[in-house]
Amino acid sequence: MTEAPRLPLSGGCRNEPILKQRGQREVFCGLTGIIWLHRKMQDAFFLVIGSRTCAHLLQSAAGVMIFAEPRFGTAILEESDLAGMADAQAELDKVVDQLLARRTDIKQLFLVGSCPSEVIKLDLARAAERMTERYAPSVRVLNFSGSGIETTFTQGEDACLAAMVPVLPKTAERQLLLVGALPDVVEEQAVSLLSDMGIGPIKVLPAPRADADLGLGENTVFALTQPFLGDTHAALDRRGARHLPAPFPFGEEGTTAWLRVIAEEFGVDAETFDKVTAAPRARARKAIAQASETLRGKSIFFFPDSQLEIPLARFLTRECGMDAIEISAPFIHKGIVGPDLDLLAQGPTFSEGQDVDLQLDRCRQARPDLTVCGLGLANPLEAEGLATKWAIELVFTPVHFYEQAGDLAGLFSRPLRRADLLHLEATT
Ligand code: SF4
Repeated sequence: MTEAPRLPLSGGCRNEPILKQRGQREVFCGLTGIIWLHRKMQDAFFLVIGSRTCAHLLQSAAGVMIFAEPRFGTAILEESDLAGMADAQAELDKVVDQLLARRTDIKQLFLVGSCPSEVIKLDLARAAERMTERYAPSVRVLNFSGSGIETTFTQGEDACLAAMVPVLPKTAERQLLLVGALPDVVEEQAVSLLSDMGIGPIKVLPAPRADADLGLGENTVFALTQPFLGDTHAALDRRGARHLPAPFPFGEEGTTAWLRVIAEEFGVDAETFDKVTAAPRARARKAIAQASETLRGKSIFFFPDSQLEIPLARFLTRECGMDAIEISAPFIHKGIVGPDLDLLAQGPTFSEGQDVDLQLDRCRQARPDLTVCGLGLANPLEAEGLATKWAIELVFTPVHFYEQAGDLAGLFSRPLRRADLLHLEATT
């Protein structure tokens, strides 16, 4: 089998000190996850119990849905609900009755908490239990929180998947579970690479339909495809499934390392592994080499946002030649991102959480060539002459595995090229 990735001579970063920041933060809330989750679960409906602000966020971020029968909506909490003058549970029952009577295609209903529902302490777990009794077996009702008080934008997916785990049936079957909502085309590539090595059966969470043949048990091993799934990891662990820790499948090296961990678990021989991976690896290397020309020797600073920051920093420093100045993430779960930390060369500052003003000061002082941050910070930083990359694009764009490796590097090189062009125009 191809060699394991070389460890950095300076030592990895698993035990590097981490600056813990607990101040004001600038991130989207977990409701954002509904925008990609509703595409993956074809018989699910996400009912946000929230305010007009929540409805606007969903509508503007997912505006294309006007042409389709939507798979999400908002039950608006009015002033009387917020003031405790109306029985919000009874109102919610009414809305759900109407929805399920009209939409018989819904098999999984998610009640999604928001800031307002949390402030009035609306008990959505109780509501979900009551509704499950009422609508079983045709509809499964679950709840999770997407509130901005509790969640950053990728935590919505984590909370949703974690809510599904306890209700999955038990199975004794030896199987591989891929965990994380990936665009279909990317998921198919992963399944096809693994199947070509003879690995199977392969299941995916979230499954496309509620009645998919998906169970869990002690013979289930799981590989995360996204690094922000800490609660889901814990929920799977409680069900007896075993995690396969690996670097995340970003870039040629990350993808090969991720596949290798699974291949070793399933006893795939070196020859088969190399035969399946050789051609896509070569394509990925070539695409990265082209797309990363602009990135070599450039510095990068990550604000905490998507929780993809550590695996991306590993890809950008090792495969694209960038220098990371600061790598911050909303949470650093070493059981999940440890293998990526092992591959990162020492040097960058690591921070967890955020104190936005202090971090902006550090960023301004460092003047990185590229800053990865949320939308709220990007415009002010651009106005100060810093090139930025919106973290949210990394979740909406297919970036995993070999065939997307060049596009992933391209996502970072584009803002640098644009900044160069603007600079050129300004000086001519
Ligand atoms: S959940 Fe909170 S942060 Fe998110 S849109 Fe609603 S009010 Fe805003």
